[in-house]
Amino acid sequence: MTASQAACLRTVLQVGHHLLDRGASALTAVEQAIRTLERSGLFNAGAGSRVQLDGVRRMDASIMEGQDLRAGGVASIEGMLHPITAARLVMEETDHVLLVGPMATTFAKHFRLERQRTSMPKRRVSYGTIFNQKQVARERHGTVGAVALDRFGTVVAGSSTGGIDGMLPGRVGDTPLIGCGVYADNQSGAVSMTGIGEGIIRIAMAKEICDRLDEGATPKTAVRHVLKKLVDRIHGSAGALVLTPDGRFAIRHSTPHMIAGYWTGDGEPVVKDSYG
Ligand code: ASP
Repeated sequence: MTASQAACLRTVLQVGHHLLDRGASALTAVEQAIRTLERSGLFNAGAGSRVQLDGVRRMDASIMEGQDLRAGGVASIEGMLHPITAARLVMEETDHVLLVGPMATTFAKHFRLERQRTSMPKRRVSYGTIFNQKQVARERHGTVGAVALDRFGTVVAGSSTGGIDGMLPGRVGDTPLIGCGVYADNQSGAVSMTGIGEGIIRIAMAKEICDRLDEGATPKTAVRHVLKKLVDRIHGSAGALVLTPDGRFAIRHSTPHMIAGYWTGDGEPVVKDSYG
């Protein structure tokens, strides 16, 4: 973790907490936290997003709130600085949950969301080469996510990403998929995932962790069991932020590191790159 990443996370925690303290909803706190991370360019989301193999940035994001189980997401959106805001608009301004590709981009433009340059010089994709390179290094992640609980007892989870290294054009990961990359229910908890999306999708991890919370598991036990399932069954690799409506939380990962932080308002925000 670089010093600027740590400083950015501390700021995000302070801004989020300040908003909640002043009575803002968890939805606003999560959206604003993720917007700050997207804007920073320090993580793999928004301004810092990876490009796909054809040189184009296509980003994914989603957000869900636990009171009425409302959710919104965008996949393969291009040219936008804040995919998380596009996801919130899908949730609040449409009857749908997920918009994809050029039409997700058109939707965001309709709401005049701030834009960014998302394409490097376009590259021709040779599919033969790509399939031979299937095992390209996928160590660098950096998706951003947040969970929050507000004074009304509502939990919210959100996530935003530029994807993973070596992606085929059009690849979509877990991040915009409700139940995979995020889930939130005031009767169980809020979960935001990071890691290799292909594995997270196959286990439907965020919902699986919430189901275990619903059955009475602690956040730590719920996430530990589901991470173990991911590793044992499909050799996947992931990390999770988990928060319950009564304020218990856990941060755990099967990846070597996961840059994350939390703040309950006491003392200073905690920011670390590894959680046991
Ligand atoms: N989960 C994201 C994806 O697969 C990547 C990440 O978390 O870094 O697109």
